[in-house]
Amino acid sequence: MNNVVQRIADNVAAVGQRIADAARRSGRSAAEVTLIAVTKYVGPTEVSALLEAGCRELGESRPQELWRKTEAIKKEGVHWHLIGHLQRNKVRRTLPSVTLIHSCDSLRLLAEIDRVAGEAGIRVPVLLESNISGDSEKHGFAPQEIEGILPEIGELHNVQLRGLMAMASLDGDFAVARQDFARLRELRDRLRENCPETISLAELSMGMSRDFEIAIEEGATMVRVGSALFEGVAR
Ligand SMILES: *Cc1c(COP(=O)(O)O)cnc(C)c1O
Repeated sequence: MNNVVQRIADNVAAVGQRIADAARRSGRSAAEVTLIAVTKYVGPTEVSALLEAGCRELGESRPQELWRKTEAIKKEGVHWHLIGHLQRNKVRRTLPSVTLIHSCDSLRLLAEIDRVAGEAGIRVPVLLESNISGDSEKHGFAPQEIEGILPEIGELHNVQLRGLMAMASLDGDFAVARQDFARLRELRDRLRENCPETISLAELSMGMSRDFEIAIEEGATMVRVGSALFEGVAR
């Protein structure tokens, strides 16, 4: 094994252990938490190393980069997640490559996904991104706006809503991150009480390298981890 492969395998194992520990601390099972390995900083060599290390759920934040990598890396059982902003004119090209879109941030985008998916005869799993921290530079629905649009989303038959996604405040400390994550969970729990039957809100995609353990303690079912997987790897 070369150094990069070994180093990435070690990092994946370490992150996996931290996920399991955080799950246990909060009385959950590690199997309830999916690691999305974020590949936006790296090229094909490092992605191959991730696959060798057993990662099967991969995340990209830019649609063009997602297209490029899914073209280059065709492997059975590998799933790609879009975790960054999607423009409507990129929907058509993105849908065939993607397992879950975490970053749906407008009704217009959801309507376009529904339309294109309908033409293709597929149903697309999505999460709603919520700007839980209120940072002005972030995408996402305001938390208080989501309840009002759920009935409309329930009518989009080619879109399958599975949950919510958020990022913690950019400039907050760990206490602020915990508050942000708890707020997303509480929002989800509230929305569930009154949600159209066709909609599931089981998934909470929250937590990155800096704060994924806190996110798990607050109920994350998916953590999106990039830099921690590439520590010690020149890139
Ligand atoms: C880059 C990115 C991540 C991963 O960030 P790290 O801090 O490198 O783990 C997670 N989520 C989103 C939306 C991102 O853009």
